[in-house]
Amino acid sequence: MFQPAGLVAYWRPVDGVRHGLLPTEPPYPGQERETLCGTTVTVLKPTDLDWLAPTCGPCWDEARRRRDAAEAASEAGAQ
Ligand SMILES: [Zn+2]
Repeated sequence: MFQPAGLVAYWRPVDGVRHGLLPTEPPYPGQERETLCGTTVTVLKPTDLDWLAPTCGPCWDEARRRRDAAEAASEAGAQ
């Protein structure tokens, strides 16, 4: 049975860059979270302007890697 690949990251703007946060639980303002690029950030309440921030390159690469791995795993399980 097909399983969707699932969530690989929560994206949140921090210090002018959108980082991918590990998808353990939805982030909330004031929380310290580990990013996909390996740093720890404090989650802020984003404004509309913050969402225009550029995406963190290393986070994006890691999110794509995780998504591809999850898809490969679900395809292997479906056969
Ligand atoms: Zn990052």
